[in-house]
Amino acid sequence: MSTVAEQINTVRANIRRRDPDQKEFLQAVEEVFESLSPVFEKNPQYLEAFERLVEPERQIVFRVPWIDDAGKQQVNRGYRVQMSSAIGPYKGGLRFHPTVSLSVIKFLAFEQTFKNSLTTLMMGAGKGGSDFDPRGRSDREVMAFCQSFMTELHRHIGSDTDVPAGDINVGAREIGFLFGQYKRLANNFTGVLTGKDLAWGGSLIRPEATGYGCVYFAQNYLTHKGESFEGKRCIVSGSGNVAQYTAEKLLQLGAVPITFSDSNGYVLEPNGFTQEQIDHVKELKNVKRVRISEYCAFSSTAQYFAGKKPWEVAADYAFPSATQNEIDEEDAKILAANGVRGVFEGANMPSTNEAIEVYKSAGFMFGPAKAANAGGVAVSGLEMAQNSQRLQWTREEVDDKLEKIMKDIFNNSLAAAEKYGLKDDIQAGANIAGFIKVADSMISQGCV
Ligand code: GLU
Repeated sequence: MSTVAEQINTVRANIRRRDPDQKEFLQAVEEVFESLSPVFEKNPQYLEAFERLVEPERQIVFRVPWIDDAGKQQVNRGYRVQMSSAIGPYKGGLRFHPTVSLSVIKFLAFEQTFKNSLTTLMMGAGKGGSDFDPRGRSDREVMAFCQSFMTELHRHIGSDTDVPAGDINVGAREIGFLFGQYKRLANNFTGVLTGKDLAWGGSLIRPEATGYGCVYFAQNYLTHKGESFEGKRCIVSGSGNVAQYTAEKLLQLGAVPITFSDSNGYVLEPNGFTQEQIDHVKELKNVKRVRISEYCAFSSTAQYFAGKKPWEVAADYAFPSATQNEIDEEDAKILAANGVRGVFEGANMPSTNEAIEVYKSAGFMFGPAKAANAGGVAVSGLEMAQNSQRLQWTREEVDDKLEKIMKDIFNNSLAAAEKYGLKDDIQAGANIAGFIKVADSMISQGCV
């Protein structure tokens, strides 16, 4: 009879053997695996559940052909990974980006499993997307791509089966094109996607939810540590939906958001962005769809740092809100050297596992993505609830529910960490709390 430690090693080796080249997926699994060891020690049935959980229930990979504005054929690859339906229909966003691969979609679907469980709502987990790059494409080209993508995807999704939403480069415009094509093919007007327009079934606060939620999460953490946002300088990376609403909520709560970035460089407002300046960033990114460097034409105080990441700026807290692995070990050391005391992840897996080690030895507050950025999918869950009721709730109602969910996520993560003797290790606590609900459901539903 092998010890639990040996069984853990066997499961780990099997996962690596199956997908040796999926580095993002293996990174995400390893981060969770590490923190679940005390859970596996206590109950080996949980290790069996984990072994099943890392194998997606279903993976769909498909061709997406479309015609560009020059009349030329283009071909992309589409993905939908249906990871877990243990606690509800598959749920998670779609990402359109040239870096999208099966490994990236699988890591996102895996993370989504724990995140959705933490929201306290009944949502399983999935993720999808394509290597399609919308940069520089016309509205008509984006529509042609979305219609072709949905022509295949529609047969795999449904309001009680799998409910996709947005992610990087999939916002209101894309959700509109995707929904229009779904409705035509399925002849069915349901809440099959979230992030919909308000006029046809969307929820108030959904656009704001990931950013606002991340700041609410951080606020709970700060209160727990006896700190506050008042006057605190915050680095925000990215300049899309998550970054924009993170900066907005930080400003509302008395903090000073000082940066935005994209893959070309970052913009610093030394005295912090005002609401008017944040609105200008929204206009540049969501309407004009241009680079963040264009912001400097609007502000005489702004400074642009080409080819640089914002982690080099002295600040109190950091809100990585761009993409995976945007903070590596070196970046984390720079953050620590510059006085940062807390990292709250708005993006999915923005910190490498080595960076997380640096946060821990520097004694940072660390809000891991699964917990800190769960506000987006939480309000997607509230959108699904409103769609089922055929009702629309007020802004206050949704925002109050979001605040309460983020508080519950923080408290449940803290309680799970304490239960397993990990003091206030919120990273481990979030993994444990998210996992146990899914694992218990898997065990009670039998070996499926
Ligand atoms: N893409 C978001 C996330 O990473 C939201 C997903 C959703 O609303 O389904 O959680």
